[in-house]
Amino acid sequence: MIRKLYPFGKVKAFNVTYDDGVLQDVRFVEMINSYNLKGTFNLNSGLMENEFEWTHESGCVVKRLNKEKVLSLYRGHEIASHTLTHTYLQDKNESEIMFELKEDKKNLENLFQREIKGFAVPFDYYSDLVEECAKKCGFVYARISEETLSFKPQTDYYRWKATVFHLDDSLESLTQDFLNTDEELALFQIVGHSYDLDTENMWDRIDSILKEISMHGDILPMTNIEIIDYLKAMEKVEITNNSIINNSGQSLWFSVDETICEVKPKSKFPVSKL
Ligand SMILES: [Zn+2]
Repeated sequence: MIRKLYPFGKVKAFNVTYDDGVLQDVRFVEMINSYNLKGTFNLNSGLMENEFEWTHESGCVVKRLNKEKVLSLYRGHEIASHTLTHTYLQDKNESEIMFELKEDKKNLENLFQREIKGFAVPFDYYSDLVEECAKKCGFVYARISEETLSFKPQTDYYRWKATVFHLDDSLESLTQDFLNTDEELALFQIVGHSYDLDTENMWDRIDSILKEISMHGDILPMTNIEIIDYLKAMEKVEITNNSIINNSGQSLWFSVDETICEVKPKSKFPVSKL
């Protein structure tokens, strides 16, 4: 029996994806680093000054991180775009949407000196026009605000949904379900803003979830783009009775009758050998 696996023969993948680049990310990133987990952080390059603060309904003042801080803080994690100014895209025409996306991508690429491939929508508005603009700007994926509440990997990369918003009541039960699931290529992705951890007083809750996930050796921490690149490569695989053909440019992993094997890029793996 052939089963698809994540890189290095891991059965499941895990990611946290947090938006806005706020002060509470300092504590949050320290936490995920301490558990060797990987995050995707969606930033607004036009709001990276301390004066762009706002008061949450709880009274908590939410402050943005400045350029120097974001550059050092998110080392080892993915940076994605969240528009230039965290604007309401429903109020914008095509050229205004293009400006918000393009400028943020360019600024983040200049700041981090790497290609920015992902886009996460601000607020919860998404449309065919926003999707078109994300494609035109060269983004590889667009994360929208809906949850899947399942571990099945998505196939629409321009309407990518995370598994669960961290304020969802099912957060703990979903975590347990994920640890117990036997689904192929199971993926668990928690989405949120780190200021919620202050306003909802839930640092301990998230800490115990992340700690538990980190203790399971069959779960691979990945960034959102690493997951998407891998799933796309996996889409091109051909599995026949006697071989696995990897048509992609990266290694793919499988278990064949319980034996873990790496199929190198652009190569054919004879299954009968096992
Ligand atoms: Zn946001």
